[in-house]
Amino acid sequence: MDIKQVTVFGSGVLGSQIAFQTAFHEFSVTVYDLNDELLDKARNRFKELGEHFKRDLGATQDAIDATFQRLRYSTDMAQAVQDADLAIEAIPENVQIKSDFYLQLGKVAPARTIFATNSSTLLPSQFAEQTGRPDRFLALHFANNIWRQNTAEIMGHPGTDPAVFDTVVDFAKAIGMVALPIHKEQPGYILNSLLVPLLEAALRLYVKGVADPETIDKTWMIATGAPNGPFAIYDVVGLTTAYNITLKNAEATGDTDMQQAAQMLKENFIDKGKLGVATRAGFYTYPNPAFQQPDFLK
Ligand code: NAD
Repeated sequence: MDIKQVTVFGSGVLGSQIAFQTAFHEFSVTVYDLNDELLDKARNRFKELGEHFKRDLGATQDAIDATFQRLRYSTDMAQAVQDADLAIEAIPENVQIKSDFYLQLGKVAPARTIFATNSSTLLPSQFAEQTGRPDRFLALHFANNIWRQNTAEIMGHPGTDPAVFDTVVDFAKAIGMVALPIHKEQPGYILNSLLVPLLEAALRLYVKGVADPETIDKTWMIATGAPNGPFAIYDVVGLTTAYNITLKNAEATGDTDMQQAAQMLKENFIDKGKLGVATRAGFYTYPNPAFQQPDFLK
């Protein structure tokens, strides 16, 4: 199986990055979104991405111009997918929206087209039947800022054809990712299976009054040699996302520590507009957060 033509569905934060990264690596890419206004927004995102690629990767202006030449735009699902070897879905993280999307896409896409979801928290087996081609469906999960944080977690469901899995592993490598094959369906893939419990444990220590965020981060940094601790990571993830996930977990489990943590995040951070690195204030203030000062680890 050879991938040449790729269609990316959804041109938001991640979809635009996936499309640009793929076109930069010389694939022809069609970008689909619901209307022209959204596609105009995507064009602006691509301009910003071009600047990031030049600054962070040393990409030349010629390479960026050539990337734009390989990008096409469409608001017509059937037309967008008609030549696609691979369709990557990066639409909202909502079961109903994704389910309806796969039912529709499965009807109009060529039989050979492989479908891949970038979903962070949902499993491919939840949508495999709706695609109408369960053997040609799997997850291809990127991290935000994919040109720098270049992980690609590849995860099938029990019905994914191993040859399709291998094709997508090769594709991920071909667009400059480090391909991370996952052999069994796992909510949260590898990264979030490790990261979410760490972040939750840190929050729990703080709301129980065991230690303050700086002491917790310092402990982690000195003992493991990591460049930052869980609270610095929260600032990067963004405290709105942190709050939403903590609240969801608290409601699902009735865990009182997590309920208290959600309330703390809302009152001390969200309500005060302190949303993390993006607003230059969260658990730390930016630029020059305390954990990057030379004496922080002393
Ligand atoms: P986003 O809200 O920025 O973008 C979603 C895009 O999908 C929007 O442009 C929207 O117009 C479009 N859309 C909505 N309904 C659609 C439909 N029915 N058909 C086609 N397009 C539709 O979202 P995002 O942050 O880019 O997340 C997209 C997916 O990527 C989610 O599954 C999310 O879990 C995953 N993801 C996000 C991140 C992240 O850091 N943002 C990281 C990894 C994975």
